[in-house]
Amino acid sequence: MTATLIDGAAIARELYADFKQRVKALASRGVRPGLAAILIGDNPVSEVYVRTKTRACAEVGVHSVEHRFGADCLEHEVIELIESLNANPVIHGILVQLPLPPRLDTGRILQTVDARKDVDGFNWNNLGALVAGHPRFSPCTPLGVVTMLDREKIAVEGSNAVVIGRSVIVGKPMALMLIARGATVTVCNSKTRELQEYTSRADIVVAAAGKPGLVKGSMLKPGAVVIDVGINRLPNGKLAGDVDFASASRVASRITPVPGGVGRMTVAMLIANTITAAERSIAKPYAARASR
Ligand code: NAP
Repeated sequence: MTATLIDGAAIARELYADFKQRVKALASRGVRPGLAAILIGDNPVSEVYVRTKTRACAEVGVHSVEHRFGADCLEHEVIELIESLNANPVIHGILVQLPLPPRLDTGRILQTVDARKDVDGFNWNNLGALVAGHPRFSPCTPLGVVTMLDREKIAVEGSNAVVIGRSVIVGKPMALMLIARGATVTVCNSKTRELQEYTSRADIVVAAAGKPGLVKGSMLKPGAVVIDVGINRLPNGKLAGDVDFASASRVASRITPVPGGVGRMTVAMLIANTITAAERSIAKPYAARASR
């Protein structure tokens, strides 16, 4: 079998056309969605991510601002900035680019972001809503994966899905979103014995371990759908996913590339969440709608 590519870049392009329409509709009501990105320290990878996100905002007409702190900044300075952005009506989304320098309390900083502006979906209110089955803002990477599966009409209900990785930003919310769509989900981690035992029975494999080439074709069920979330920089400077693309694409039916797969969807979902936040900011309160 030779797998067909799931082209994240092409799906993202289609989504952007819809985003532009939504931005236009907001403009007619006097609102321009605004995203504030906070970058702390001088991590070159974070610099690239923030630049990519800022460029995507410009493409669809979302206003974006960057706030930078040196690696030696004080936690209260970051918290004060977030509080001022929480109160700023032209900012609808706040993004704190991770990872933060280890000195800073990442949990405390993320919890300061107003849940209504938490377009990364990392605030515990939003994560809790996802667990409860009433998502408000969901983390962008797993949201990008399920959006991809939906748009490609890949059957999730009734499937056996394996998620490799249990991080709060990818693995766990990914599992919740697949469960919500009726998959039977196994979540693997670095302590899992015999990873292959699980992957070889899976109809859908989502690899989010940060280990280049971890998933080989020999570990897959023929015809499986393989979603590669991993983005790993190899010593030669090239990017690689968590899936050994050459061997996996001979066994899978559908597969995402790296780059050009999930990464493009992650950025698209950040824009989607920012536009949604702007739309919600002018929506009538639920109580007013319900009483009509
Ligand atoms: P993370 O916080 O380091 O979590 C990695 C997870 O993988 C952990 O739960 C870890 O298990 C598990 N793991 C590690 N080695 C494993 C193995 N051999 N077998 C099974 N599980 C294993 O990383 P993350 O933030 O979730 O990101 C994961 C990958 O996705 C990274 O490559 C990252 O760059 C990429 N990423 C991509 C996007 C995108 O837009 N495409 C977005 C975010 C992240 P333990 O919990 O036991 O340690």
